[in-house]
Amino acid sequence: MSRTVYLNGEYLPEAEAKVSIFDRGFLMADGVYEVTSVLDGKLIDFAGHAARLERSLSELDMINPVTADDLAAMFRELVRLNRIDQGMIYLQVTRGNPGDRSFVFPDVSVPATVVAFTQDVPNLVDAPAAKTGFKVISIPDLRWARVDIKTTQLLYPSMGKMLAKKAGVDDSWFVKDGEVTEGTSNNAYIVKGNRIITRQLTTDILHGITRASVLRFAAEAQFEIEERPFTVAEAQAADEAFSTAATIFVMPVVEIDGQPVGSGKPGPVATRLREIYIDEMRKTAA
Ligand code: PLP
Repeated sequence: MSRTVYLNGEYLPEAEAKVSIFDRGFLMADGVYEVTSVLDGKLIDFAGHAARLERSLSELDMINPVTADDLAAMFRELVRLNRIDQGMIYLQVTRGNPGDRSFVFPDVSVPATVVAFTQDVPNLVDAPAAKTGFKVISIPDLRWARVDIKTTQLLYPSMGKMLAKKAGVDDSWFVKDGEVTEGTSNNAYIVKGNRIITRQLTTDILHGITRASVLRFAAEAQFEIEERPFTVAEAQAADEAFSTAATIFVMPVVEIDGQPVGSGKPGPVATRLREIYIDEMRKTAA
């Protein structure tokens, strides 16, 4: 079925939504994005995604072309038009089309390009991967130094996914100066006893919206939270490991570089945090 997508104020059949070859998103990866999940036809963690969009744009000296209220209304309209029960909304905002290619940012009078579309994922909650867990490999973190900004420069994370695929596993975890930063498209955690350990928020990782919610729920459930880097060896020796992102919620990680983590099966902490996250999101989806 053809989707209805959003482009600069219009809802269009996907085949009719066209963007210029001079768009800076296309020529320079000069754009930012957000992925918001949909549960029961409602938006989850929307406020966090809207706030991070604002921050990413501001870090790149781009004017936010859409208020959070208008964005929520647009997302809900896309969900309605495409009859999404479980899935995702992808939003991208680029610096627009100055009519030619130049390294210099165009004048702020050039309007941003705003694109959004839905992805139907009927088994977002009952994801088969959550029952078996992810196997990951570690690879060097060769991304640029401002990965806290959610830009569309995703070539290296794509290469990381391909390296994982070639190795017969599910994902790659990036390693910088001997310590894990995060996954290709998710934040990374280990569990030791009652402690959940994850890298602190700096420019080295994306400030995950799921991360913020999961850490809040984990603290409420009396887990200790330690925000610090960890090594691959420490992760391999941990009781459990897991990743979080809007698209995977809480995903157990059961193997790192061929070594099983804990029992080699999804552990009780990751399983419980996944359940809590889904329950809480169901309550607050709007
Ligand atoms: N880290 C990276 C590099 C990501 O690309 C993502 C999501 O795409 C995340 C972490 C998780 O962020 P969120 O929980 O906001 O989806």
